[in-house]
Amino acid sequence: MQLSEYVNAITRANVEYKIDESLSNYCAYRTGGPAKIMVFPKSHEQLCACTKTDIPIEVIGFGTNLLCSDKGFNGIVINSCKMSKITVSGACIRAECGAKLSEVREIAEINCLGGLEFTDGIPASVGGGVCMNAGCFTKSLSEYVAYVVTDKAVYNNQSCDFGYRNSIFCKKKGEIISSVCFVLKPSESDIIQSKREKFKKLRKNSQPHGKSCGSVFLNDGYFAGKIIDTAGLKGYSIGGAKVSEKHANFILNTGNSSQDIYDLIKFIKNKVYQTQNVKLKEEIKYIGIFDD
Ligand SMILES: Cc1cc2nc3c(=O)[nH]c(=O)nc-3n(C[C@H](O)[C@H](O)[C@H](O)COP(=O)(O)OP(=O)(O)OC[C@H]3O[C@@H](n4cnc5c(N)ncnc54)[C@H](O)[C@@H]3O)c2cc1C
Repeated sequence: MQLSEYVNAITRANVEYKIDESLSNYCAYRTGGPAKIMVFPKSHEQLCACTKTDIPIEVIGFGTNLLCSDKGFNGIVINSCKMSKITVSGACIRAECGAKLSEVREIAEINCLGGLEFTDGIPASVGGGVCMNAGCFTKSLSEYVAYVVTDKAVYNNQSCDFGYRNSIFCKKKGEIISSVCFVLKPSESDIIQSKREKFKKLRKNSQPHGKSCGSVFLNDGYFAGKIIDTAGLKGYSIGGAKVSEKHANFILNTGNSSQDIYDLIKFIKNKVYQTQNVKLKEEIKYIGIFDD
């Protein structure tokens, strides 16, 4: 399919789009070149219209776990930000992919529904959060997902194949989460509030400020931050990318180059492998092509 045919098709479906839109506007590192076309579906039907193509597709939520190439992405980027409806029915909350996870948690709290307190401070969209099975303090979103609706099918919890920072949606490129139904636990307002405050405090004490994507590497049977610290890399920098002094699994960006961040990630992996024989694996995801 030619790009012009694609533009005609999404125009017929009334989907908003931008050509050569800079990815840096949508990613927490604030880096990245242009997407050939960025589309902004507002409904499940529009989302489905956006995926009917053989042109390469990437989907972004709030870009808080993404490193986008400075060369951009020569394809379609689906931006979920305009799909943000949330509805409550009993202990179930159904949220569209671009809804803020923090808003789902707040609505849960207002409705005396507990479970999501641990997500306080995770800056995710619902789609990005569920795709990554976001979590912390031994808890993760998969515990509360009843089912997921994508542009192609409906998945119950088991068929989402959730794992540590992983799900079937990480593996199935091109299948887009449209909405998620969470099942929460009826609870009391002050209990929910005090749990959330506890998680918030724990996070405040451990997390550095600045432009970052949170933890860069998975804690895969070890604490990546501790291993990077042991390798003597706290504070190490390449160009505008720097290993945080406070938490060595965070890379802070003070410049405007994704390649610097990529090079620093590569450097950390090599150094840790050489000095400690550990093969670190990235938690963050890449969009586009980088220079090796
Ligand atoms: C300060 C900070 C703290 C953080 N703390 C935590 C933490 O405690 N725990 C944790 O788990 N993470 C944490 N993160 C990382 C990040 O917030 C999570 O990974 C989050 O789930 C990413 O959500 P997002 O909407 O930003 O997704 P994006 O970064 O936009 O995308 C992440 C992945 O999800 C895919 N995706 C996005 N939307 C969809 C969709 N609709 N359908 C299918 N796939 C989709 C993307 O293609 C990409 O592969 C932190 C990040 C920051 C910046």
